Amino acid sequence: MAYNPQVVEANIVSDNTKNGLFEIVAVLKDRTKCRIGYERTASGEEHATHINRLFTAPCPVCRKDFLCSCMNNFMPTIAEQALQLVKTKA
Ligand SMILES: [Zn+2]
Repeated sequence: MAYNPQVVEANIVSDNTKNGLFEIVAVLKDRTKCRIGYERTASGEEHATHINRLFTAPCPVCRKDFLCSCMNNFMPTIAEQALQLVKTKA
């Protein structure tokens, strides 16, 4: 069964206006929490650069409760949803 991440909550946790780097912590529907790093380019585009699962709950994909890289496969989806959520709140 393919994992289908759904972001239900997202908050900007750091924002460096000097270098354009910012981070969002996203909460998924299954309680998975991820910290996503983004960079803002000079033209105002935002790109996700990395994603880390926080160890608040086991990984929804492999069930490990420690470091794994499963979320990397879903970074585009999670990063996009998190960004949209943050923007609709602003
Ligand atoms: Zn995993």
